[in-house]
Amino acid sequence: MRVTIFGTGYVGLVTGTCLADVGHDVVCVDIDQAKVDGLNNGVIPIYEPGLEPMVKANHAVGRLSFTSDAPSAIAHGDVIFIAVGTPPDEDGSADLKYVLAVARTIGQHLERPAVVVNKSTVPVGTADKVRATIAGELAARNADIAFEVASNPEFLKEGDAVNDCMRPDRIVIGATSPVAVEKLKRLYAPFNRNHERIVVMDVRSAELTKYAANAMLATKISFMNEIANIAERVGADVEMVRQGIGSDPRIGWHFIYPGAGYGGSCFPKDVQALAKTSQQHGYRAELLGAVESVNDRQKGHLFELIGRHFGADLSGKTFAVWGLAFKPNTDDMREASSRRLLQQLWDAGAKVRAYDPEATAEAQRIFGERDDLVLCDSARAALADADALVVVTEWKQFRSPDFQRLRQSLADAVIFDGRNLYHPDEVEAAGLAYYGIGRGRSI
Ligand code: NAD
Repeated sequence: MRVTIFGTGYVGLVTGTCLADVGHDVVCVDIDQAKVDGLNNGVIPIYEPGLEPMVKANHAVGRLSFTSDAPSAIAHGDVIFIAVGTPPDEDGSADLKYVLAVARTIGQHLERPAVVVNKSTVPVGTADKVRATIAGELAARNADIAFEVASNPEFLKEGDAVNDCMRPDRIVIGATSPVAVEKLKRLYAPFNRNHERIVVMDVRSAELTKYAANAMLATKISFMNEIANIAERVGADVEMVRQGIGSDPRIGWHFIYPGAGYGGSCFPKDVQALAKTSQQHGYRAELLGAVESVNDRQKGHLFELIGRHFGADLSGKTFAVWGLAFKPNTDDMREASSRRLLQQLWDAGAKVRAYDPEATAEAQRIFGERDDLVLCDSARAALADADALVVVTEWKQFRSPDFQRLRQSLADAVIFDGRNLYHPDEVEAAGLAYYGIGRGRSI
């Protein structure tokens, strides 16, 4: 099928590449000319495991192309996806300006029937706004062209996006017209071979499904962080508690890891946006507010532990920070816990030597040149002249450090483990002080 995708970010680029990989003819359109030029020259703007060779292979055979020319891209697609950003507005609701700008562009240039599919995460009712916007533009130029608007929320997770896209748990199609449902089923048929993964529903339910999924996952994280904070105060080890509850299939092992708070481009904004939608409909979503405030407090927890050890004034201290991305296997630092931590360290007078396997360029872009930040090219280099180590992102390569060497490198011989990667006994046996999350010993 001929597919057009607006937006070549994490979602648009991965989706477009996976659709091309199963044989569809995909044109990706982005307003960022530099990104388009880069992609046409084999420069992949994001880090996502497995993505680069797939983009290059499909681009080389002509099934995947990149352009900033919206009219030609619109002329190409039988199915036109909207996969642009929906960042939080000032009041926490989802800002639809990019989505509606694409809808206007589609309305201005559509010349033949198409199914417009919204893949961006958008509040319930957005499909109606997209439909009205396109219809308004068509009417303005007296064009009578049939089109449908469907919802197809995306559930991929950064860091494993290609796998998620190639082997989705489910594919949610929100559409009422049989034509739109049929087209989308045909489009996704290659991903739906072993067993049925497609769930067809009405558009509003599909829009809400995405928020419900993210809110549930964020709730699990905040719940576990809440338990960790209780564990710390009562002298219990949350890691034992985690093992004690995860084996219950009603609870499960996923998303019950305590840590330095959730970040990323989705959970924070989606929990907020869902709370806002619910408020706009006259309902105060108590639980969502609590999920958000627990997370906000948790993002400051590592710094609190550092304060317990060193006191409030950190001038003259240097912290080695391992991990800047909001989670492993991505270069994405949107809403990352590391950003809060670094700011707090700087405000208290400390210096930072940071290492992240993939997010160095992004950190450079965000923080620019500063005297109190050195971005290092290895975990070991970050330790040079440092007083303490803070682990913020659980990259695999941080899991088994040589604790003896760490003790020799760190002037103050202390580790703040924001992801509970280490066993306190092992760290302490090497002569280092250990602070984890909810480990019942850091009071
Ligand atoms: P992103 O910021 O990485 O990419 C958005 C892209 O859209 C950018 O390249 C931007 O230049 C482009 N764009 C903006 N306006 C445009 C226009 N008028 N025409 C063409 N391109 C335009 O965003 P993302 O992370 O891919 O997220 C996109 C949507 O998908 C959001 O609603 C997000 O909530 C949702 N989502 C994201 C993830 C994720 O893990 N990142 C997962 C599921 C859903």
